[in-house]
Amino acid sequence: MANIAVFPGSFDPITVGHVELVQRALPLFDRIVVAIGINSQKKYLFSLDERLHWLREVFKDEPKVEVGQFEGLTAHYANQIGARYLLRGLRNASDFDYEKTISQLNTIVGDGVETIFLISQPSYSHISSTIVREIIKGGGDASPFLPEALHEVKL
Ligand code: ADP
Repeated sequence: MANIAVFPGSFDPITVGHVELVQRALPLFDRIVVAIGINSQKKYLFSLDERLHWLREVFKDEPKVEVGQFEGLTAHYANQIGARYLLRGLRNASDFDYEKTISQLNTIVGDGVETIFLISQPSYSHISSTIVREIIKGGGDASPFLPEALHEVKL
């Protein structure tokens, strides 16, 4: 049975922190599905199409990575596509506090789906989509935090 992981997120937008996490996780899985969770209550800076397009561009040369999207519970999506693992990153204690409960719930709701956490490298732990959005909104240059495919991004 293939070891498939879902790496769920908003990716609004994808950052070098996300990419680094996927690269480090690749040896652990046969396939990683980087999937955008669509939450109709949430306001995004970038459209779903833009975010999907960037994910495809960033991972186009990585055969083990697929790009997906889903609505509803992440754990149900994992079940549907036969993924036994969720992949998440931990940058700091607040990530841990938040992720701990979700992971415990997902194991139950997702019928045994396990979350695998990778702790971010120190040089990436300050990078978040939130910070990138703030820089872009403020007219700054966010390119140090963005994969090359997104270097043209401006509002
Ligand atoms: P969400 O909206 O679900 O928080 P994000 O797109 O912000 O989605 O993040 C998706 C995942 O990527 C989360 O597990 C987050 O902790 C992880 N992540 C984001 N930035 C980094 C980083 N710089 N280093 C390691 N993991 C990260």
